[in-house]
Amino acid sequence: MAEILVLVEQVDGEIKKVTLELLTLARSLGEPSAVWAGPGYTDTAKARLSEYGAEKIYVADSADIADYLVAPKAELLASLVGSRSPAAVLIASTTEGKEVAGRLAIKTDSGVITDAVGVAEGFVAEQPVFGGGVIVHSKVSRGTPIIALRPNSTQPVAAAGAGAEEKVDVALSDAARGARVVERVKEKTSSRPELTEAAIVVSGGRGVGADFSIIEQLADSLGAAVGASRAVTDSGWYPHEFQVGQTGKTVAPQLYIAAGISGAIQHRAGMQTAKTIVVINKDAQAPIWEIADFGVVGDLHKVLPQLIDEITKRK
Ligand code: FAD
Repeated sequence: MAEILVLVEQVDGEIKKVTLELLTLARSLGEPSAVWAGPGYTDTAKARLSEYGAEKIYVADSADIADYLVAPKAELLASLVGSRSPAAVLIASTTEGKEVAGRLAIKTDSGVITDAVGVAEGFVAEQPVFGGGVIVHSKVSRGTPIIALRPNSTQPVAAAGAGAEEKVDVALSDAARGARVVERVKEKTSSRPELTEAAIVVSGGRGVGADFSIIEQLADSLGAAVGASRAVTDSGWYPHEFQVGQTGKTVAPQLYIAAGISGAIQHRAGMQTAKTIVVINKDAQAPIWEIADFGVVGDLHKVLPQLIDEITKRK
């Protein structure tokens, strides 16, 4: 079976859910090989990757990889593409993943597709464009297909793989050493799931006002992440890292609850591939209703407390 390389996305050795999604998808296309880039590889990581179907795990755990931004990851993948000739490379369509994918495409003279939400037989990628208004099916016609998939595009399903380890040495070029990481600053810690990985996102807009506690309470009652529109982040009501949309983060959760958000095209670009969209808005003509599955026309300050009460009662 054709080998599919899957770049593991991990932070301090903790594997991100999107990696398990990529392995699940890779199993439907061929034989997945996970590529671990950077320090922090452990038996737990090996067990997790094997549990989701990695037949092989290429381990390049040199500290250099973490020290020099993303270029070393692209070099590592390029050398594996050269030596193993995989049928495709799957990468998470995150900020870092997209940069790795682009650099890898240049290095291997291959085509790249980013922001995909699915890949079918023959490596035909499904990709929303124009802010999600049009779905395109595209295929790489040159070199090795490099496809970056949005987190939450597919459900991770476990299916054991052999998990055979192979150490890989990376000889970094001078170019890869061009930008060194001098400090890592952790985002404010929160018990909530990471926005782009969350299965449920509760987002608030200008209609919420400066006090976002009602959105946080609803999010916590559902185990969800909090998101916000740009009107909110620009007003300084909630931090920019939670902005959803064209100039914020792209999310594709199972459930997206939009409260007090009008549904401008720039906001929709970041959330309209959510599986189910629920709207709470007092204006029945707001554009967000065009993509809503259902919702409540009403004042969110009256609707959300009742919703939270009802969810809490049913727990
Ligand atoms: P508004 O448009 O003001 O809507 C508020 C909504 O709340 C209204 O529909 C109103 O009916 C409702 N409401 C008010 N009070 C209540 C209440 N008590 N109960 C229920 N409903 C209530 N925006 C993004 O979100 N993300 C982006 O990444 C982004 N990028 C952009 C990039 C560019 C280049 C540009 C030009 C704009 C971008 N924007 C982005 C801004 C975007 O155009 C909108 O201005 C913004 O999304 C509006 O935010 P909002 O829906 O919260 O506010």
